Amino acid sequence: MNNCVICGTDLDNNQDIFGFIFMLRQSAICQNCLPKFKKIDRNHCPQCYRQQKNKDICNDCLEWNKTDKPLKNQSIFKYDANFSSFMHRYKYMGDYRLRHEFNHLAKQELKHIKQRFDIVATIPLTSEGLVKRKFNQVEGIFGTQDQILKINKGIQMSGLSHAQRRKQVIDFEVMALVQDKKILLLDDVYTSGTTLHQASSALYQNGALQVQSLTLAR
Ligand SMILES: [Zn+2]
Ligand SMILES: [Zn+2]
Repeated sequence: MNNCVICGTDLDNNQDIFGFIFMLRQSAICQNCLPKFKKIDRNHCPQCYRQQKNKDICNDCLEWNKTDKPLKNQSIFKYDANFSSFMHRYKYMGDYRLRHEFNHLAKQELKHIKQRFDIVATIPLTSEGLVKRKFNQVEGIFGTQDQILKINKGIQMSGLSHAQRRKQVIDFEVMALVQDKKILLLDDVYTSGTTLHQASSALYQNGALQVQSLTLAR
């Protein structure tokens, strides 16, 4: 039994020619649901890529910029209800097959921008996270990258409100020489931005020249 992770349609029973191609590339999302995943269009915050009606810096970023060095983020998909069900299935239910869904797009995007950086690194999982899930969901999407950060004491961000998330302090340890380096951080989703901002602060404290991020969804 192979069901669409969004609507539950039986994918094995959906065997026209397109269905067959979908099966070949192991899609877990049906042809009706796939177009519901919206790519972020040109109207987005220039700093964090939040989808909005204009191209102004969003309030979230203005708030971050009061305390942090501005972090330029780029994302591919809008993080909406569809994307959230997809991530829930992928990340929290540990369905590793789902990495096939968007990793082609993600790797293509990464290829476009990676030459501007000296280091491309993924946001690490806590060791507990890795034990629980048995795979690194960010590497599943973007492929294996450098590991330059370690989280000493993890925090469970899911279930926390936006305001609560922003106040969390993640204990990042920098494990590589980053002095004067331009660094691209990869993560699955930019939600409150806390994880990426704190990782970037840790890198700046260690002398990094520039930190930017790329995520699958915002
Ligand atoms: Zn579906
Ligand atoms: Zn923004």
